[in-house]
Amino acid sequence: MTTPWGLPDFDEHEVVHFITNDECGLRAIIAVHSTHLGPAAGGARFWHYAKDEDALVDALRLSRGMSYKNAMAGLPLGGGKSVLLAGEEKTKSPDLLHAFGRAVDQLAGRYITAEDVGMSVADMIEVARSTKFVAGLPNSPGDVGGDPGPHTSLGVFLGIKAAVKWALGKDDLRGLHIALQGAGSVATGVALHACAEGARLSIADVDPAKAQKLADRAGGKVVSPDEILSLDADVLSPCALGAVLNESTIAALKVPVVAGGANNQLATPEDGERLQKREILYAPDYVINAGGIINVCTEYLGDGDASLVRRRIEGIPVRLEQIWREGSETGRDPAAVADAMAQRLIGRA
Ligand code: NAD
Repeated sequence: MTTPWGLPDFDEHEVVHFITNDECGLRAIIAVHSTHLGPAAGGARFWHYAKDEDALVDALRLSRGMSYKNAMAGLPLGGGKSVLLAGEEKTKSPDLLHAFGRAVDQLAGRYITAEDVGMSVADMIEVARSTKFVAGLPNSPGDVGGDPGPHTSLGVFLGIKAAVKWALGKDDLRGLHIALQGAGSVATGVALHACAEGARLSIADVDPAKAQKLADRAGGKVVSPDEILSLDADVLSPCALGAVLNESTIAALKVPVVAGGANNQLATPEDGERLQKREILYAPDYVINAGGIINVCTEYLGDGDASLVRRRIEGIPVRLEQIWREGSETGRDPAAVADAMAQRLIGRA
């Protein structure tokens, strides 16, 4: 089968911008997947890619995921994403962030940026010097804004609880074993919420010091990144990078539930069916991890306060249950059910 532009992940994206600036060393891609429901919103990822093509694939997949995520969260936003190609040492300068901000600004509001992997609130402050189309900026107590990570974590935690209720019939996480992949921003919040409810954690990060720091703070045991996906546990919570669920990792899973914050967890759509065949309940990633964008959207549009953000995040488990219910009625796997719902919402069914 031929694919447009020879790119299997190209999905009628409205615009894909390639940005280079030799003076500051910026190389970035901004992908706008859909503006059907509103301006395309999605974070900026700063990451070292082995090959430039990997960055393009990431931008295409992540921006489509944002269209689906924003639609499923009921937000008046389309989907977009940017990736900034980092060197191996992953250093960034204010000039680089300003140049990125100018590139965002040239899209005149068609794309709104915020934090993602490798980008902090401090980075967004720099980006905001060149454009107003940015969210995830610092907030005063009680105001909406700031790092979306803790809001994503809250939604993931509530989603894990809903999955545990659905699959195991348990009302809380007391005594349950959660295998957490990643010890970054999202994983940290998930770990703190889960431990406060009495869960037992195993934590893995490619940076072992980060895993240890989180284990010391939240409680839990550090395991190696090679072990985490095949650990015997109640829940696997992927909270690192994407494409971790593939034919071989799914065959090795020893959990009844996969529910985590990472974007694009399934390497291919068939992996949703593979999970279903193994009777592993999957919480579609872009539904369970929408807490951050809910906060970003409420900040950017200025249409509500912290309690509205909380209520919107509490809608995440409700939507997950709707997906699992439709899945059990139709026999389709939850990822396929969620994709079909999202495509209907963005007018691409
Ligand atoms: P982060 O950079 O703070 O943390 C990611 C962590 O994963 C890092 O500590 C990194 O060392 C670790 N890691 C990378 N590869 C790994 C591997 N193979 N095994 C174990 N650990 C590995 O990023 P974050 O903000 O916590 O985001 C985590 C995931 O959640 C990403 O996929 C991101 O796109 C997604 N997400 C984040 C948000 C948010 O609000 N931050 C919102 C939605 C989705």
